[in-house]
Amino acid sequence: MAERVIPLVQHRVLAPRATVPVERLALQDQLQDTRGRLLRDLRISVTDRCNFRCSYCMPKEVFDSEHAYLPHAALLSFEEIARLARVFVQQGVQKIRLTGGEPLLRKNLEALVAQLAPLKTPEGRPLDLTLTTNGTLLARKARQLREAGLKRVTVSLDALDDRVFRRMNDVDFPVAEVLRGIDAAQAAGLGPIKVNMVVKRGTNDHEIVPMARHFRGSGVVLRFIEYMDVGASNGWRMDEVLPGAEVIQRLRSEWPMVALPSTAAGETAQRWGYADAFGRHDPGLGEIGLINSVTQAFCGDCNRARLSTDGAVYTCLFATVGHDLRSLVRGDERHPAGTDADLAAAIRHLWLHRSDRYSEIRGTVPHRPPAAARRIEMSYIGG
Ligand code: SAM
Ligand code: SF4
Ligand code: SF4
Repeated sequence: MAERVIPLVQHRVLAPRATVPVERLALQDQLQDTRGRLLRDLRISVTDRCNFRCSYCMPKEVFDSEHAYLPHAALLSFEEIARLARVFVQQGVQKIRLTGGEPLLRKNLEALVAQLAPLKTPEGRPLDLTLTTNGTLLARKARQLREAGLKRVTVSLDALDDRVFRRMNDVDFPVAEVLRGIDAAQAAGLGPIKVNMVVKRGTNDHEIVPMARHFRGSGVVLRFIEYMDVGASNGWRMDEVLPGAEVIQRLRSEWPMVALPSTAAGETAQRWGYADAFGRHDPGLGEIGLINSVTQAFCGDCNRARLSTDGAVYTCLFATVGHDLRSLVRGDERHPAGTDADLAAAIRHLWLHRSDRYSEIRGTVPHRPPAAARRIEMSYIGG
């Protein structure tokens, strides 16, 4: 059988180069991993920097003035990102989320959005193109992003209480400015807007009901995220995780709510709608989402790949090893730059061999892995 060598140089950890039987790749048109999961969702981290120091993501003690961020030359250019995105879309990706770090810190991000917006799936459908941001620069940028072709945004906001919020972002940033960003995004037509709230027991769980009250009936979908053990620096403890089941219990003690069906395969959030007097969902009051990534693993239909700021692909948020595509895009001292067909073959190879299911086996692996197998930080591969 003819075989073809694909130069997959693993990021940070060197691994043998992969050998891919070309026939097998060509025959399988619906790309499935070893667990039958399709490749549908690509998260692209456009910067590893952030202007916040959320303790659950980039704690100050670790991400201080000594921290080595990626040099500019290591970052994928917008043209390189757009080229890779095009190849990913040819391989089945239908949704792209720009993230980081804080994506709006990347200069002229709207130029990247303008390159991604025209991409179409092989069936001719437009991409679902979105962005996750801490909202600090949204009031300034919302209109330009919309004009460049962005469809919608997700804004992270962990509390309405200004003191709690300033403490959680750890740079004393006021909540009013993020709310102004959300308003600007709504006015620019970047809806339906989602707001992500990471819930930490004892830190901001008393903000669950006030946050729900604020966004109920506003057209914004508030999503409660269980605090995750992602990366290797946030000092995660299980007793700080407030299960989504407890969130919904607290909300139901305030308002009648009904469970809603999921809208898409691989959807991470469980949906609950505010009900009317007859117990039926009232769309005018809206809905909330529960992202129970710790207590209810959703690896079973996880269709997400992540592209790091410097061009490595990670097939799981909890991966310790990524696969370098940048050297294939640019070429290096040992290999010439690859063609689009080479990139496609590398992506197919990665996905075909994917077996990740960290959340399903969380309890059986050491929370603090040895240094050589350190999990990658979320600010580097994107949320
Ligand atoms: N800076 C942007 C932001 O905060 O929206 C985008 C990047 S951030 C890594 C993406 C999402 O990951 C945010 O909604 C954030 O709240 C979430 N996140 C970060 N660390 C987390 C953790 N340890 N557990 C759960 N969610 C986390
Ligand atoms: Fe920055 Fe977002 Fe991480 Fe907070 S969650 S530190 S805003 S990247
Ligand atoms: Fe997907 Fe990995 Fe999260 Fe499971 S743990 S849902 S495989 S990213």
